[in-house]
Amino acid sequence: MARPAVAEIDLDSIRANFRLAASLAPGSNTLAVVKADAYGHGATRVAHSLAAETGAFAVASIEEALTLRQAGLTHPILLLEGFFEASELAIIPREGFWAVVHNQEQLEQIADAALSGPLTVWLKVDTGMHRLGFAPDQAVTAYRRLQSLPQVARVVVMSHLANADLQAAEGISVANQIERIPAELRAPDVETSVANSAGLLDHEPARQAWQRPGIMLYGASPLEKDSPHSRRLQAAMTLKSRVIATRWVEPGEQVGYGARFVATQRCRIGTVAMGYADGYPRQAIEGTPVLVDGQRTRLAGRVSMDMLTVDLTHLPDAGTGSEVELWGKCLSANEVAACCDTIAYHLFTGITQRVPRVYR
Ligand code: PLP
Repeated sequence: MARPAVAEIDLDSIRANFRLAASLAPGSNTLAVVKADAYGHGATRVAHSLAAETGAFAVASIEEALTLRQAGLTHPILLLEGFFEASELAIIPREGFWAVVHNQEQLEQIADAALSGPLTVWLKVDTGMHRLGFAPDQAVTAYRRLQSLPQVARVVVMSHLANADLQAAEGISVANQIERIPAELRAPDVETSVANSAGLLDHEPARQAWQRPGIMLYGASPLEKDSPHSRRLQAAMTLKSRVIATRWVEPGEQVGYGARFVATQRCRIGTVAMGYADGYPRQAIEGTPVLVDGQRTRLAGRVSMDMLTVDLTHLPDAGTGSEVELWGKCLSANEVAACCDTIAYHLFTGITQRVPRVYR
């Protein structure tokens, strides 16, 4: 029998989540963010499953975009981090990729390039995230320059939201970020894009010409507090394995490495084929929820490389072979992430290649 650790990927749920995303901004364009191997779900399978739904994809790098092309996808593919060297400009128009342009050097490289075809560029404005982008007071000049270049056929103005997921008024607000885009670049004849999943789900003004949802396509809400729309998302990845051994442990005995769990009463421990080498986080706290045969229980002891241990004391019917859900359809990745001091994005992208993705 094969090792039972698998990530089941429900492509119908991804399609349903995409349709929900697109329905929130009717009459506009919604591209599908499939970077980082579609947040660990498998970029080529996910992209094929969305091919009839979306007009474009977005990835982080040219390598990720080429993987989609080699898999037969013909859509425009936006490179969210732009290009890293001028030599990539030979590939970008030829392959039908769209490039984010976030600094002056890239702009000059485009101006100096002899290209195989017209470019679509997404001009990134730094409205408060302070990672990439032109400062607002330089953005109009950059926009006009790009529009004047014979190499450039189309310019979309974009920015990235820093706090759209938050409830409290911490840091810069979505409204302030949008206001920082110069008025000339918010004119009706300019195509703009600011919404990630949180913006799209929860901030009407963020819904502009182009939406860029990622995490919501995979069924996890980015919002600190659920909203009516986010409650409709369907988890796409179910991380599963099985109990491979059980034993009774006497009071005072430890379980696993480092004596993190010491039995205070006689308890029954199940050992599950899933560890940090599969991407299950080692920092999961004692008591992190797990489902065994659909019933809720908790981690007992440290996660090790290939195994983790759970408390089966109150689940007498569970035993070797019992099915374990680490997160997915019945246990939210957000809830598990909160026990691991991280976010669902990190859980999904952390699942290693050792774990087969099984599609349905
Ligand atoms: N747009 C940009 C520029 C991004 O970097 C990302 C992801 O980090 C997204 C959109 C999608 O964000 P989310 O997964 O939160 O929807």
